[in-house]
Amino acid sequence: MALAHGRAERHNMQVRKGDNVKVIAGKDAGKSGRVLWVNGQKNTVVVEHVGIIKRHTRPNPSKNVKGGIIEKEGSINASNVMIVCPSCGKHTRVGHTILPDGSKMRSCRHCKATLDK
Ligand SMILES: [Zn+2]
Repeated sequence: MALAHGRAERHNMQVRKGDNVKVIAGKDAGKSGRVLWVNGQKNTVVVEHVGIIKRHTRPNPSKNVKGGIIEKEGSINASNVMIVCPSCGKHTRVGHTILPDGSKMRSCRHCKATLDK
């Protein structure tokens, strides 16, 4: 089945800024860190210490910038990360719990603890 292209569709992101995630695929698989940035349009995330890109900079004495290599987190595909549950410590798919007042909370599939505060 082909996906419909050309529509500006927002991905339903399970990951949010500040979440602790584990990388499950790609060259940084196995690493974990805090989500610094989420891009819902591109379905990418930036995770602390993950997807490091090295950028060479030239010295600029007038701005007091030393030349060298700057290491910076690059964005990775959001489907390569899973949320780490703060309650049981496992990486998990995100479930949803509907509260009595009708609001939706993200929850851990393992221990059912809520992932939202
Ligand atoms: Zn859990």
